[in-house]
Formats: sequence, C-alpha cells, structure tokens
Amino acid sequence: MSRRPFTDLIALRDWFQRQKRILPWREDPSPYRVWVSEIMLQQTQVVTVVPYFDRFLKAFPTVESLARSTDEDVMREWQGLGYYSRARNLRAAAQAIVAQGGFPNTRDGWESLKGVGPYTAGAILSIAFHQPEALVDGNVERVFARLFRISRSELGDTEYKKTLWGHAERLIAETARLKIDPSIVNQAWMEIGATVCVPAASQVKCGICPLSPSCSARKNEQVAVYPEKKKRLEKIQVEEQVLVVFDRKRDRVWMEKPDAQAKWRNGLWDFPKISQAPRTPDHEVQIQYVVTRHQVKRRAFVLLNAESIAKNSPSHENGEWVSASSPERPMGAPVRKLLALVQEQMNA
Ligand code: SF4
Repeated sequence: MSRRPFTDLIALRDWFQRQKRILPWREDPSPYRVWVSEIMLQQTQVVTVVPYFDRFLKAFPTVESLARSTDEDVMREWQGLGYYSRARNLRAAAQAIVAQGGFPNTRDGWESLKGVGPYTAGAILSIAFHQPEALVDGNVERVFARLFRISRSELGDTEYKKTLWGHAERLIAETARLKIDPSIVNQAWMEIGATVCVPAASQVKCGICPLSPSCSARKNEQVAVYPEKKKRLEKIQVEEQVLVVFDRKRDRVWMEKPDAQAKWRNGLWDFPKISQAPRTPDHEVQIQYVVTRHQVKRRAFVLLNAESIAKNSPSHENGEWVSASSPERPMGAPVRKLLALVQEQMNA
C-alpha cells in the first residue's frame, strides 16, 4: 500500500471547511444527534433524511426520551423513511444506552448496540468524539477506489473490502499524526464522494477536487473504470392482494395491526391481506413498489357499500377503523400511497 503525501489531507480539510453543506446534524454534533443521523442515513439520501431528522429530534430530543417511547411512537416518526428495522434497533439501543448509564466511547461499545456496524461506529466516534477511527461507506469506497485504483475483480470481494479499510485506517492515523481533527477528515471523505467524486463518471468534478493532484484514476484517465460495478442481483417478483374496506360516510378505512412476524413493514399498519379476491369488489386499484430486492405488485380490492362490507367483513380481532383522510397509525409509504390513490379515485 503506497503512502499518500500529507498535502492530500491538508487540502481535503481546507476544502471541507470551505465547501461543506449545512446539515442539521452538523450543528451541535453530539453523540445522540450524530448517532440518529447516521442510522437514518444508512441506505437513504441526505435530502430525504433532513426533514425526518428534524421531526424525530423534536419528538425524541434525548436518548432518554427515545428509550421511554413505544414502538408505535417511533414508527410514527419513521413512517415513509423505509428500512424499518433501523427504527426498532434505534429504540432498543437507546434503552441499552440508558441502562448502561450513557453513550459508549469505544468501537466495541458502539458495535455491541443493535443496528451499529463498523462504519456507523467509526462515524460516531470520529464525528462526535473526535477519535481517529476509520470508516468506509459507499461514498468513501468510490473515492478510494478511484484515488488508489482498487480493483474488486482483481482482489475478490473480501480482499477488496480489506484494502479499502486498510487505506481508511492508514489515512486516519496520518490525520491524527498531523493533528487534524478526525471529525473533519472523515466527513470530508464522505462529502467529496457525495458532491464531487459522484457515481456517474460524466458528472465527476475532478477539476475542483482537492485530491486531483495525486488521484491515480484521474492521472490514468480511468475515472469511469473505478469503482468496478458490482453484479446486480435479479429482482424477486412478489404479488400481494389486500382488501380496502372504505366507509366513506364516516371517512374511515379498516386496517390491521402490525404483524410481529412480518419480514417487512414490521411495526406498521396495513390493509388486511387476502389470498382470494372478493367476488363483488366495488373497485380495484393496483400499485407497484420496490422493497430491497423485491418488486412488489399489490392489487387492492375496494369495498364501499354496506352490503359488500358485510359480505367480506375482515376479522375484528386484528384491526380497527382508522381515519381515511388523516390516519394516525404508522404506515409505510406504499400503504399511504395506496390509501391516497383509493380516495382520489373514489372522489373523482
Ligand atoms: S480527482 Fe476526480 S476521480 Fe479522483 S478523487 Fe477527485 S473527483 Fe474523484
């Protein structure tokens, strides 16, 4: 592994201080705020996270308030953000943090909490605790793969990952030796990846990149080659049928409580699933959406009148009537979308 000149890190620090985006978790980067933001940012873009972060922090301003919340309270604030296991893990970790008397300040301590892996631990320790801890996320991977021309196909997946982390560890140790704040340098790697060394090779801005003088991909005109593409996994097709019992007079729909065993949407309310379409639906609506690798096609059979509702009445044990125009129960984005679509079509 070649040694990088010191000037890269100094140029990177200076660039970040001039160009960093104003983001809510960057004001007052306390362990709680950094941790919540990092969990929200897993698999989700900054622009989507910002309003959720503000709302979540208003609802749960401290780790103690989050630890005291119910699963449904947390789901209500998280609904629409997706990857709901993150919300459940966050609440479980808040309870563990309160039980142990405060935030951990070691990598082992953070990684023992639910939902925190090596990247998230590195981010929290460097950004909130200013410790020289390495991190590699998708943005850092792309920057390093181009900067050092690291080939996944030559190294294989395991060695490729090890090489990326090796660079991250070497560079953060160098950062500490130069007495540069690890918080700044780690955020700068990610910021460069998000705003300058972006995925689409045609939009990469090498001309304004502080790493440009020593970037191997740029020098060799191979920016479009790195990082090498991962093989895309094929989408799995899923078909679902649900019943939308819509009592228009009272502006309410019948919904079911979260299924604790559900693979997805755990903790979220949904329409009753059915294996057979009702014989006399009043209307039918279809939506399609993607969850991880699954391409879901959902057919919703709408029952509007008393007769069809009585004939196809769902079980009363698992559900309740929920306001159709302002539902207060936590629901996933596809369920909200379906409800809005049903209302729109019924009111047309
Ligand atoms: S010089 Fe270009 S390819 Fe290299 S790190 Fe900077 S933006 Fe990425």
